[in-house]
Amino acid sequence: MRVIRDAAELRAVSQAWHAAGERIALVPTMGYLHEGHLALVARARELAPRVIATIFVNPTQFAPHEDLGRYPRDEAGDIAKLEAAGCDVLFAPSVEVMYPAGFATRIAMSGPAEGLEGTHRPQMFAGVALVCTRLFGMSGADVAVFGEKDWQQVMVVRRVVEDLALPITIETVPTIRAADGLALSSRNAYLDPEARVKAAAMHAALSYAAERLRAGATAAEACGEAEERLREAGFRQVDYVALRSERGFEEMEKLSEPGRVLGAAWLRQVRLIDNVTKSG
Ligand code: AMP
Repeated sequence: MRVIRDAAELRAVSQAWHAAGERIALVPTMGYLHEGHLALVARARELAPRVIATIFVNPTQFAPHEDLGRYPRDEAGDIAKLEAAGCDVLFAPSVEVMYPAGFATRIAMSGPAEGLEGTHRPQMFAGVALVCTRLFGMSGADVAVFGEKDWQQVMVVRRVVEDLALPITIETVPTIRAADGLALSSRNAYLDPEARVKAAAMHAALSYAAERLRAGATAAEACGEAEERLREAGFRQVDYVALRSERGFEEMEKLSEPGRVLGAAWLRQVRLIDNVTKSG
């Protein structure tokens, strides 16, 4: 696997692959890779003969008080995992390569960027939209693979691709979970052993809400009860538990069309997010 840090080198590699008639799949990440990320790489390999993974902890999607400075990193470990997963190129640029002097473009988003994560992390989706658009352009990829773990992010990226007519397709992979249901996440490294045990309550609470919705409960009832369960399990603050439609990311009072229950809550200093599409 080739490790590339320079935009011109990435462009040259991608142009050579396209000239040979080879499609390219992109897997954008912030590193500290786990089985969830590697499932995206495996899907990318099914979609295209060439796979580029990227590792970039994107400063534009973090607010000043957030965890940019302490976000976990292990580039050597990540390289070994990507190599074993059959990735062709790791693009691991510096901040200067991604946002060179004079960089002046911003993307303002409404629609799926509003509410839920958009309310609690107002800077995030503008940053995600910007870095993804730039990575799509730099890599020339034909398809990009994202995880359902960050469902609102998928909705946002799909919107950006459509609105800006970007020549790329977005594919998704279901959330990879630990045996107790906790969605794998680089940020799980922040959990001490006691919090790690309690963290399983997130998936359990969202699954419970999904079950209640399927049994006919309203979103207010099902999500309210799930919030209660999170508090009882030791989460100190629940940012939201909410139902949204799968197709348009619309609020729904009941499960009147396919939907997802999404949640975000704090276990001590660690913020966990997750979502489920059906109970279990
Ligand atoms: P991150 O490095 O956390 O920014 O995530 C990079 C990509 O991996 C995003 O598309 C995430 O949705 C995806 N991802 C993260 N965790 C998981 C997981 N447990 N299962 C599937 N995909 C995931």
